[in-house]
Amino acid sequence: IPAVFQAAMPVLRTIENAGFDAYFVGGSVRDVLLHRHVHDVDIATSAYPEEIKELFSKTIDTGLKHGTVTILYNGESYEITTFRTESGYQDFRRPDHVSFVQNLDEDLKRRDFTINALAMNIEGEIVDLFDGLTDLKKRVIRAVGKPTERFHEDALRMIRAVRFMSQLNFQVEPQTVAAIKANHQLLSKISVERIRDEFVKMGLGPNARQAFALFLNTELADECPDFKGKREQLNVFPQLQFSPTMETSLWAVIVLLLKLKDIEISRFMRDWKNSNAMAAEVQAVVECFDSISDHAPSDYELYQFGKTTLLNTIDVAHILGEPIDSKALVDRYTALPIKEDHELAIDGRYLIQAGVRPGPRLGQLLDIIKQKVISGQLENSEEAISKFLQALIN
Ligand code: ATP
Ligand code: MG
Repeated sequence: IPAVFQAAMPVLRTIENAGFDAYFVGGSVRDVLLHRHVHDVDIATSAYPEEIKELFSKTIDTGLKHGTVTILYNGESYEITTFRTESGYQDFRRPDHVSFVQNLDEDLKRRDFTINALAMNIEGEIVDLFDGLTDLKKRVIRAVGKPTERFHEDALRMIRAVRFMSQLNFQVEPQTVAAIKANHQLLSKISVERIRDEFVKMGLGPNARQAFALFLNTELADECPDFKGKREQLNVFPQLQFSPTMETSLWAVIVLLLKLKDIEISRFMRDWKNSNAMAAEVQAVVECFDSISDHAPSDYELYQFGKTTLLNTIDVAHILGEPIDSKALVDRYTALPIKEDHELAIDGRYLIQAGVRPGPRLGQLLDIIKQKVISGQLENSEEAISKFLQALIN
């Protein structure tokens, strides 16, 4: 039994000793079997949330209605969810009813893919009702049960399929692909936030380019914000030499492929429900990219881009195969006399003390000094700047 599960064993034992069933389930079982890093250990149980809360001293009500309690044990947190089935799904996205059930089988049946429908008990034995182990070995993503029915229940599963394809470097099984193709329009029922979260995971996975190709071919892309009719531009993504590894780079690459400018970038980012901070970062990277691929940037430009934007832009240029001398850019950036405004030997207060009156002129003077220092024409010391100032004022 792997170490991550060993650590959680006392949790399972506590639940079992109280007379309930408990299993490790979902992504953690899959990832353990694939020797991937496990980020959260999920537990499924026959006990009701209230019963779980009585067994552990530190608990958080994560989603009582859906049967989920988080417990804190030994510095780790575990999500414990009561076995449940779902039914209804009138709106292609959410079950109308969640009902708690007494056995694991029903719970596994509601899960999306065979590789995500595995469970492990306290003895380390695997429960595998849908041949998930074979699919893990064959590296295949296959819907549990009839794919069309499963996508009608919850259309998000279609984009989850390509997301797992990218993250795990798996193929999607042909009937599952066919069902996505036939039902891609249902994705429009899903909120943009949930689509975005899966899309980003797809875009950052090791098999992103192949998964993106399937995302286009199944026409899932057409149901996403601002992607309809953009097949030609987006088709470049699967042909790229590298895939993005940072979220900012992913969005910047897409914005560049779509050839969006200024206000279009912020609108695009907003349509995808990205944060203003992310939108601003992407905007900065695109501007930096345009300038770097157009001319050798001045020291002052490098300073204004800043380190994060510069490194992100180098990543983007690498992904897009834009020939830039990234080492030279980084070396030049590293050699800048100052990296932030506060590193300047003087500030606005110093100028006021030196007799400059507060107002626009003060800002202009500060800017001139900053530019001179950054371009190496003026030493960044109070003495040198003060001398320069005297000459300028007189
Ligand atoms: P990750 O590593 O991204 O967390 P995961 O498999 O744990 O991968 P989650 O989204 O955390 O994915 O979901 C946990 C488990 O819940 C899944 O493994 C799957 O069994 C089930 N599940 C999640 N979303 C759905 C869904 N939309 N339909 C059916 N089952 C789902
Ligand atoms: Mg998970």
